[in-house]
Amino acid sequence: MGKPQLVIGKHRFCERSNNGTIVNWRCTRQPKGCRARVSTLDGCIVRFNDDHNH
Ligand SMILES: [Zn+2]
Repeated sequence: MGKPQLVIGKHRFCERSNNGTIVNWRCTRQPKGCRARVSTLDGCIVRFNDDHNH
């Protein structure tokens, strides 16, 4: 159910936006202040902010 999720290590990311090329993901703990984000292009990580607060 819901949007796709991306799992990196022990962290889980949910899809935030998708313009058809780049998909932006944010940590599922983002509502609790986590700033980690990932961008993927064709399934490959092109940007990775591993700044988790948990
Ligand atoms: Zn996080």
